[in-house]
Amino acid sequence: MTTNLLVEMKASIGWDLHTGERIPLRVMYERGQQLVRETGHYWGLERLSLKESDPIRYEKIFARLRAGMVNARETAKRIAASPIVEQEGELCSVFYSPEGDSVALSTGIIVHVHTMSEFIKFMIQQDYETDPGIQEGDLFTNNDCHVGNVHPCDIATVLPVFYEGELLGWAGTVTHVIDMGAVAPGSMPTGIVERYGDGYYITARKTGQNFRPNKDWLLESQRSVRTPSFWSLDEKTRITANMMIRNTVLKLIEEEGVDIFKQFMREAVEDGRQGFVNAIKSMLVPGTYRGVAFVDVPYGEERVTVPDFAHKNSMMHAPSEVTISNDGQFSVTFDGANEWGWHSFNCTPAGMQGGIWVLLTQTIMANEKVNDGAYYACQFDFPVGTWANTGTVQSAHAYSWHFLVSAWAPLWQALSRGYYARGYWEEVNAGNANTSNWLQGGGIDQYGKLHAVNSFESAAEGTGASAVRDGTDHGAAVWNPEADQGDMEIWEVTEPLPFLGRRAKPNTAGGGKYRGGLGYESLRLVWGTQDWVMYFMGNGFMHSDSGLFGGYPGATGYSLAAHDTDLAERFAHQKAYPTGDPDPDRRDFEENLHAREIFRSPTGTTTQETYHNYDLYLNYLRGGPGVGDPLERDPERVRQDVEDESVTVPYAQSLYGVVVTVVEGRAIVDVEATTLLHDTCLPFFCKASVLG
Ligand code: MN
Repeated sequence: MTTNLLVEMKASIGWDLHTGERIPLRVMYERGQQLVRETGHYWGLERLSLKESDPIRYEKIFARLRAGMVNARETAKRIAASPIVEQEGELCSVFYSPEGDSVALSTGIIVHVHTMSEFIKFMIQQDYETDPGIQEGDLFTNNDCHVGNVHPCDIATVLPVFYEGELLGWAGTVTHVIDMGAVAPGSMPTGIVERYGDGYYITARKTGQNFRPNKDWLLESQRSVRTPSFWSLDEKTRITANMMIRNTVLKLIEEEGVDIFKQFMREAVEDGRQGFVNAIKSMLVPGTYRGVAFVDVPYGEERVTVPDFAHKNSMMHAPSEVTISNDGQFSVTFDGANEWGWHSFNCTPAGMQGGIWVLLTQTIMANEKVNDGAYYACQFDFPVGTWANTGTVQSAHAYSWHFLVSAWAPLWQALSRGYYARGYWEEVNAGNANTSNWLQGGGIDQYGKLHAVNSFESAAEGTGASAVRDGTDHGAAVWNPEADQGDMEIWEVTEPLPFLGRRAKPNTAGGGKYRGGLGYESLRLVWGTQDWVMYFMGNGFMHSDSGLFGGYPGATGYSLAAHDTDLAERFAHQKAYPTGDPDPDRRDFEENLHAREIFRSPTGTTTQETYHNYDLYLNYLRGGPGVGDPLERDPERVRQDVEDESVTVPYAQSLYGVVVTVVEGRAIVDVEATTLLHDTCLPFFCKASVLG
């Protein structure tokens, strides 16, 4: 009896599909990888026998598994109280094969589909089966970027799914939490220079057994962050979603049979790989596509408090080269990227791969048959020692996103050049806006307790234009294509910052024959607090994206705040007060305000500063880049933009060469002056239209 029990306890959790024998998980993983290397196909599957012999059954299993992921995410997010998760939907749920390859996924912040894959593979490679053990009901948590994450505030929880003692896969869910216990409040603070300022790190740790979090984990983790109630409910969200995924999978196994399910998983990943290769072949032109992006790191500015060795201005540089081979292989190199630095904007290969994967899922493979199959059709090169692969765990990563969105814009553009060449004009995208500003901070809130805030209004930035239409105004963010800006009333409940105004921001979209999507702005009043700090974070001194085919980048960022104002008196006497900064050239903001200091600066990044009640903070969310020469934009569209207050009169003229006057709210084009201006601006050889 005792002997049998020991044998059973030692039984391996991996399996061989053909012999039926149990094998260690690490051996199973290595065999799978070897077959990919030898044959180019996932698990050596050259043919998808289940899909070919019984396509309806195959599709049915896929659809049910996929629906289970969406259901888990949509249901579980209602448990969360953090508006980041509950309002913005900053979570996603995924089912992985035993080897850690995603098979089916929910909607949401799907950048983490691949980062969680890296987390599971890390545990396999480190032989967690032996120590600390992988058993039914275990929970594992990770936020370490060097294991599998973009930045530390994305917390992943995975649950192994067992059936009769065999590991059949993993349920994984990630949420972006509101505070990480870093040196400054908020999930992605600035001013951090090394890992030890990033806050609470959990490195692929077993945090639960028997489907329950361990008590020591609960005690420790909830003491490590400033917002323990949000933290606790976010964790319950992730565990609930994982339990729902497990139920979906077990039900499918019982109905379809375990061998069919095993075969299905492998075919689904290979199907995803083949689908990606076919999309590349049908939509792109083989060749090498080059691009470049930059962003400012203004750590040498006056309002940035960091140690002397980090107190300098620099730029991050991302030259990228995409190669599409004749057989549909996609490879990307960031060779030439500059070195990592003592700032919080560094990245890791897992974050880079996750991000490129989320980009690809929104363009070349924008369908529900998306999984890690696509990853097997890609090759990545992120040189060690660069900002994209620091090669040391000591680097800081609190806001890896500072440059990611911009660094990937040339990849969107590489694909777009291919689409354009093949005639898929509507698929062209000039890239996405730098997803900032990030309003963050904390202190004693309007309820008298210690709190941290992290507005996710930045989930709705302007998108890039296509070759047939303008970008979407304040529409999306590359990392969560389903996101929205959230209700003002909900932000006001969790942040001591009532809105004095929220509106689309003129001139923020990159100009073009088709302009980018507009950004927007929210003006926040500090109210009901004590000891409150905030900071700005985003691009500032320079454009961090570029337009396409002659299109212009979105407008740069800037910072605007007012300290020690006369607003209390203005409100009491019903006098005019600022509601925004729609046109920085006009200075409406300054006209309706007296303050000890108005901080208006081209920098997009500061470190934490004290704000008093009745101080103001402008949260400006960026616009997207344009496509095609702005001088080719139809003057009627420019007229409409002026009437809609998307473009101001001076910019209609200086950017688009369209002379407009506004009379009683109606914009009228001066056709003669416009024609004259176009004839003067446009040399003869530029008149031939690039875009039809
Ligand atoms: Mn995140």
